[in-house]
Amino acid sequence: MKKRILITGGAGFIGSHLCDFFIKEGYSVICMDNLITGSKGNIEHLLKHKNFRFVKHDVSKRIEIKGGINYVLHFASPASPIDYLKYPIKTLKVGSLGTHNALGVAKAKKAKFMLASTSEIYGDPLVHPQKESYWGNVNPVGPRGVYDEAKRFAEAITMAYHNAHNVDTRIIRIFNTYGERMRKRDGRAIPNFLDQALKGSPITVYGNGTQTRSFCYVSDLIEGIYKLLKSNINYPVNIGNPREFSIMQLARLIIKLTKSKSKIIHKPLPIDDPKVRRPNITLAKSKLKWKPKIDLKKGLTKTIEHIGEL
Ligand code: NAD
Ligand code: UDP
Repeated sequence: MKKRILITGGAGFIGSHLCDFFIKEGYSVICMDNLITGSKGNIEHLLKHKNFRFVKHDVSKRIEIKGGINYVLHFASPASPIDYLKYPIKTLKVGSLGTHNALGVAKAKKAKFMLASTSEIYGDPLVHPQKESYWGNVNPVGPRGVYDEAKRFAEAITMAYHNAHNVDTRIIRIFNTYGERMRKRDGRAIPNFLDQALKGSPITVYGNGTQTRSFCYVSDLIEGIYKLLKSNINYPVNIGNPREFSIMQLARLIIKLTKSKSKIIHKPLPIDDPKVRRPNITLAKSKLKWKPKIDLKKGLTKTIEHIGEL
């Protein structure tokens, strides 16, 4: 019997790579998405595949699926800061009501469940690098609170379904991931800088650019997701690339790789923008035997090759 998997947010950047991966592995894939930040273009090539079905649905509303399901991967949520600032209530709803509905499907179908959580649950961290045991430093009423607190609630309800209803759950804390199919104007640093560099327009570094991030290429993330899904770890696991860069270093690297003539300009730093971010991946290394393989230069080069799809 073919395994059936429900991927919410399947038409988004990461979700569409998951759809590709599980189709390749021979699964029957249901991709559920309301296309608020995703696009049918990301899954166009799968629409005619006999094992693939796209369902346009807002998962903050009740989810109805006929037949058995073996896995539920809950990836639906705006993820770019400009997206969740544009859709604050929808972001809170999909993290809370949407996660509740997705967990309800997993419970009813006795399916394994995975929550796409985020390094944002650590907020503007006071512990560096961030390990899973750190509880974070989040401003609940700041602009980023709509995303951070929704994901923190999502983690809490996922653990509660595990403890109270015995649902076999996984929580992945994803650190900044990039690659093909990010939208050019999704507002995140890498697509913004690539778009600006290739057009020769100014590269917009927010603040003085000393804030740091650690960037993971999407194929490394997908491998980490699969390994975590196949493990028996119910508590949160960080997946990300531990090489840390300042945003200024990122901007300079992108200018170099695209051979751009763009100049760097500075814009105001958004409120509550985390000053540092870097995953401690000891847990993933030891329990999942996972570590990233693609460094930033290589990953950016691959992304630039597919820039038409960005
Ligand atoms: P994305 O915006 O490209 O994808 C999100 C998808 O979810 C989109 O297709 C969107 O239309 C869909 N969606 C949103 N609300 C929905 C709803 N109510 N019902 C149905 N579909 C809905 O973003 P992404 O980068 O692919 O992120 C995917 C997941 O991974 C998100 O849950 C995000 O929080 C998490 N994540 C991503 C990163 C990253 O660096 N890319 C980091 C941490 C966590
Ligand atoms: N950033 C920037 N210029 C841009 C977009 C983002 O300097 O055009 C900065 C942003 O302020 C943050 C970092 O780059 O410090 C990463 O931002 P992104 O939106 O990619 O993700 P975040 O990690 O903040 O969720």
